[in-house]
Amino acid sequence: MAKLYFSYAAMNAGKSTLLLQASHNYRERGMNTLLFTAALDDRAGVTTIASRIGLKAKAELFSENDNLFSKIKTALEEGEINCIFVDEAQFLTKQQVWQLARVADRLGVPIMCYGLRTDFQGKLFPGSSELLAIADVLREIRTICHCGSKATMVVRLGEDGAVLIEGDQVAIGGNERYVSLCRKHWEEKTGSWPTDELDSPTLELEPKEDNKNE
Ligand SMILES: [Zn+2]
Repeated sequence: MAKLYFSYAAMNAGKSTLLLQASHNYRERGMNTLLFTAALDDRAGVTTIASRIGLKAKAELFSENDNLFSKIKTALEEGEINCIFVDEAQFLTKQQVWQLARVADRLGVPIMCYGLRTDFQGKLFPGSSELLAIADVLREIRTICHCGSKATMVVRLGEDGAVLIEGDQVAIGGNERYVSLCRKHWEEKTGSWPTDELDSPTLELEPKEDNKNE
């Protein structure tokens, strides 16, 4: 049975490199792959997925109104495809994740999705949320924080290098940068720690008065 895979990570973990390498392994054995990546606007057509270490390959763009089941079904009628790869899978809609699941279940082609787990506010992306819920196989791609701990969170930095707390989940065409951090340092960078609750008078750290008298 073909499976739906989700490989997730924070930023700069080398997701595209792993995707391109895996696709290359199929092609080296004479098999065909089909690659998709997010358009982030209404563009359609073909683009290039490139990795920082120099690998690249052609990929079809997907945007939120595309029916990926139909697209892939049409592509399969034109020729054999042994595996489908989806980069930037966090930008899939929930419906598109189900469309990809149906390709695996009903058309028999494995689907390998690669994407971010959470956005810069620590919230799941819609595509990642649905993939975490229904993928057959979940794989974590590890990357590390500056402290050496596993980085699971992302901060968005503005042009001046300051951490941005507010803003759209997807920034298009901005000059923002993203940095991967461990949860502890993410809380500190985003100002969630130290928390006000520590010295709040409403937080009862001491036993209540009436309990002491018992
Ligand atoms: Zn850290």
